Amino acid sequence: MSPAAGTIRGRCHCGRIGYRFDTALALEALPLRRCACSFCRRHGARTTSDPAGSVRFEIADVAALRRYRFGLRSTDFLLCGKCGTYLAAVIETGAGAYATLNANCFEQADLLLQEAPLVVYEGETLEQRMARRQAKWTPVAGTI
Ligand SMILES: [Zn+2]
Repeated sequence: MSPAAGTIRGRCHCGRIGYRFDTALALEALPLRRCACSFCRRHGARTTSDPAGSVRFEIADVAALRRYRFGLRSTDFLLCGKCGTYLAAVIETGAGAYATLNANCFEQADLLLQEAPLVVYEGETLEQRMARRQAKWTPVAGTI
């Protein structure tokens, strides 16, 4: 993977929190999803991940980072406390952290023209949910 060619940057509206996403996939090849959960629905989020890529969070203002948990409480939803943007969701596992990114935060989000199918994960057990995420989400490099 060429490190520069596959680098996507994303950030919240005010720029206090963001990420650098390294992926070999082209923007138009990234799988987009619209999660049907009550949180994602309210944000109109389109999320994406690449298990072969990596994401590094870049938090310019640590005081602005908010973490929100609900439901099974397995996941940190990362939001900006200043501008309210939903940036990403992160799980911690024995094998490290994994994230799914709100692709609407990409600098080039206007180039994401592919379909974002609705996905319904209701009814999963906690074990099924964590296994799916560990297999499909993007490994996190560094700390958050
Ligand atoms: Zn912000």
